[in-house]
Amino acid sequence: MTESCSRCGTTADAPEGGSPEGWSFAVEEGRVHWLCPECARRNIRAIEGKLPEEWWE
Ligand SMILES: [Zn+2]
Repeated sequence: MTESCSRCGTTADAPEGGSPEGWSFAVEEGRVHWLCPECARRNIRAIEGKLPEEWWE
């Protein structure tokens, strides 16, 4: 299946039941938000701090 980055919209193929290589994800309000490696690096502090997505902007 194909996942798309919730930040920049780039897409990557993901193995069944897995995540695209190098990608990260966060679960917020029951939804999975995928992050490509570049966006994950930019937002790593927000992810680790579990801050709301609004903070990222
Ligand atoms: Zn991205």
